[in-house]
Amino acid sequence: MRHALLFAAVAALVSSPAMSQSPGRPPVLSNIAPWDQPFLPPAPAWDGASKALLRDASDPWVTPFEADRGHDFSPNYVDTRAWFDRLDAASDLIRIEQFGVSPEGRPIYAVIASKDGANFDPAKPVLMIQAGIHPGEIDGKDAGMMVLRDIAFYGKDALLDRVNLILIPILSVDGHERAGAYSRPNQRGPRIQGWRNTATNQNLNRDYLKLDQAEMRAVRGLILKYRPDLYVDVHVTDGLDYQYDVTYGFNGEDGSFSRSPNSSAWLDTVFKPAMNAALERQGHIPGELVFGIDDDEPKKGLSDGGLGERYSNGWGAAAHVPTILIENHSLKPHEQRVLGTYVFIEEAMRLLADQGAAL
Ligand SMILES: [Zn+2]
Repeated sequence: MRHALLFAAVAALVSSPAMSQSPGRPPVLSNIAPWDQPFLPPAPAWDGASKALLRDASDPWVTPFEADRGHDFSPNYVDTRAWFDRLDAASDLIRIEQFGVSPEGRPIYAVIASKDGANFDPAKPVLMIQAGIHPGEIDGKDAGMMVLRDIAFYGKDALLDRVNLILIPILSVDGHERAGAYSRPNQRGPRIQGWRNTATNQNLNRDYLKLDQAEMRAVRGLILKYRPDLYVDVHVTDGLDYQYDVTYGFNGEDGSFSRSPNSSAWLDTVFKPAMNAALERQGHIPGELVFGIDDDEPKKGLSDGGLGERYSNGWGAAAHVPTILIENHSLKPHEQRVLGTYVFIEEAMRLLADQGAAL
C-alpha cells in the first residue's frame, strides 16, 4: 500500500508539478510535439502605467529581469546574489543578512533596507516580503530587486523614513537552482523556472506548523528576530483562469474565520481598499484570492483562499503575524506580474508608514 501510494504520488508529480491533474487521467497523444505549438491561451493586451517603472538596459543599475528584451528572464542564485552584493556595497541603506543554510549548503539570505543601521527603531513598522518559497513563482524576487534599487538610487528612499523593509529574494534556494524550461508549463514566464520542491523533495508552503525543513526553521528565526508587522508571501497561481493579474488574500477576509480577527479586520477595511486603488491606478487588475474547490470540476465552485496552519497565511493568523498570500495570475506575462508586485510592495510600505500603528 505504501508503495502504491508512493508510485501514485510520483506519477502525479511527474505529470504535473502544479498538482492540478488527476493521476488517473490518460496522457493526450498527438503527432505534434507539445513544444512545437503554443498551448497557453493568448495573453490579453496590457499597457499599465507601471511600465514606466522599468529601467533601460543601459542603466548601470538595471536588473537582469529588466535587461532582458522580453522581460521574461529571472537570474539564477549566484547572479542574484552578485547583484545584491553590488547594491549592498554601493548603498548605506542596504545590507544583506544570512539567516539559514539549505540542505545543499546554499546560504539563505535576506536583503534589508533601512535608515536605522543594524538595530531597527522599534517604533517603525517592519514589512517582510518573501519570494520563492515556490521557486518557479519568483515574481517577488525580480520586483524586490527593482524596489530596492529605486530606494537606493532613484528617489524612493523616503519610503524608509517610517518603515523598514526585509526582502527574502529566494527562500527555497535549492529548488530555485533545480531549474528548467518546463517546471511550470502553465505559467507565462520566466523562461527558466525553478522547481516547486526542495532538495529533500518537500513543499515548504506546507511546513509552517511542523517546521520539519531547515528553510522553514530559518524563516521562523528571522521572523522572531525582526517581528514583522506585515508578512507577504509571494506566489503565482497554478493555472486557474480569470481576468485578474494580482490576487491576494488572508485568513479572515471579508468576515470569514480567523484566529486573528482584529488584524484581519484591519487588512479588510484599511489595507485592501487602498491597495486595490493603488494597483488600479497603475493599470493592474487586483482580485480576491480564490482556489478551485475541485480543479477537475469547476462547477463545485471556489474557496475563499483561507488556508490551514501549514500554509503561510494560515500560520500567520494563528501566530498573530498579519500575513498576506499573493497569487499572481500565471497566465499573465511575467513582466505584468512583476510590475504588479512592485506596486504592491511600494504601496504596502506607504500603508504601513501611514497606518501601521493601528495594525
Ligand atoms: Zn505557490
